[in-house]
Amino acid sequence: AVELSGIHKFYGGVHALCGVDLSIARGEVCVAIGPSGSGKSTLLRCINQLEVISAGRVRLSGVLQGYREIDGKLHELSRREISEQRRRTGMVFQRFNLFPHMTALQNVIEGPVHVKRQSKKQARERGLALLDRVGLDRLGDRYPNQLSGGQQQRVAIARALAMDPEVMLFDEPTSALDPELVGEVLDVIKDLARTGMTMMLVTHEIGFAREVADHLIFMDNGVVVERGKPQDVLTNAKEPRTKAFLSKVL
Ligand code: ATP
Ligand code: MG
Repeated sequence: AVELSGIHKFYGGVHALCGVDLSIARGEVCVAIGPSGSGKSTLLRCINQLEVISAGRVRLSGVLQGYREIDGKLHELSRREISEQRRRTGMVFQRFNLFPHMTALQNVIEGPVHVKRQSKKQARERGLALLDRVGLDRLGDRYPNQLSGGQQQRVAIARALAMDPEVMLFDEPTSALDPELVGEVLDVIKDLARTGMTMMLVTHEIGFAREVADHLIFMDNGVVVERGKPQDVLTNAKEPRTKAFLSKVL
């Protein structure tokens, strides 16, 4: 579903991604771990075009993202085309960034109504079903400041799902939460994994990574240093950098 080849990203003089190749098959869950500044967030942001890549190709279900290829040459897409493509991914950030002046349900149906032009009624029904799915069936009328962090993050997940993304991207979705609220959000993500959603997830929750990942990648300094099945990478890392990192976090 996701294919990255030769991705480079520069922020001015900072070479944040240095030739990343990665593919995530449909229905697979790929988890990225690695030290701060290794490029994990940048990689997610390149997949959904929140960042413009400096070189390489991003494909979603075979479709080149951000560019049109004509006679082997790349031509940038318009802003409108890029925002259309961006809707193929759902992104959940560390901070919940819900619209504070809208209820949970309004947050969830905003995209379907205004972007997908669904009827209010249809969007509401689906929105309620999605809130139910993330365990918030009775809280649709609450405003974000009336919800716990874990509940807000689950609304954010429902909101992303409402757009029917082909891929869900999670950037440390639990690291801003109080410890007792982490589990409820991880459970929702686990449930999504079981239903066959294609996902890429950045997390510091190593135990969770082991449980949910089909593939684990370890990133350092803008490269994928090691990849494999989680049990292999976590208990049998080959690269010294991976071992050093794991010895600090396990
Ligand atoms: P963390 O675990 O702390 O979230 P990360 O692995 O997600 O780290 P990135 O945020 O992707 O790392 O950053 C990769 C590199 O790019 C770092 O050197 C960072 O300082 C740099 N960087 C990230 N965003 C920008 C930006 N908007 N402008 C300039 N440099 C940036
Ligand atoms: Mg990050």
